[in-house]
Amino acid sequence: MQTQDAKLALIETGAWIAQQGWVPATGGNFSIKTETGFVVTASGFDKGNLNPEQFLELSPTGQIQAGTGRPSAETELHLKLYKLCPHARCVLHTHSISATVLSRVVEGNCLHIEGYEMQKSLSGIESHKQALQLPIFDNDQNIAQLAEQVANHHIDLPIHHGVLIRGHGLYAFGRTVQEARRHIEGLEFLFACELERIKLMRSL
Ligand SMILES: [Zn+2]
Repeated sequence: MQTQDAKLALIETGAWIAQQGWVPATGGNFSIKTETGFVVTASGFDKGNLNPEQFLELSPTGQIQAGTGRPSAETELHLKLYKLCPHARCVLHTHSISATVLSRVVEGNCLHIEGYEMQKSLSGIESHKQALQLPIFDNDQNIAQLAEQVANHHIDLPIHHGVLIRGHGLYAFGRTVQEARRHIEGLEFLFACELERIKLMRSL
């Protein structure tokens, strides 16, 4: 994808994500792999109302080539995911209530989801019986350290659709912007279902 098209796709995607309430208070960040490197959102802007000046263009190694403003510290995690998962061409990072709360309620380093038809919204999953395993990492303000943990995890258990950061949010990716959007929408639906299920189970 070309740089200008990538920015337009992320502006449109940002408006949709903001409408769902998944990037409050300028949170979240988005990126696309382009023909010349990456396009990422600059830090500190309302992700629901982006304009083409609120992006940075990075080289394939992550050096800033164009654009003003500063990249989010979380850009490093985007770059790590592209490196680990070569099929990923778009990474969307959101701060939804469901992802934030569910990642705090679930103990351990994996969210295990099974039994939902909606699992099929994730590429490669063809049945509600095929378990979805989404890694959870403890939040860390040191993004380099967090990215290292994600890389180490990936060696043993490959990451397919994204990762949850505890008490923080979701990173989801896809082969295209459309696929990344579908993954985020499917996962958010599943998070909301799991939260409801856990609440009901605990009240019984
Ligand atoms: Zn974040």
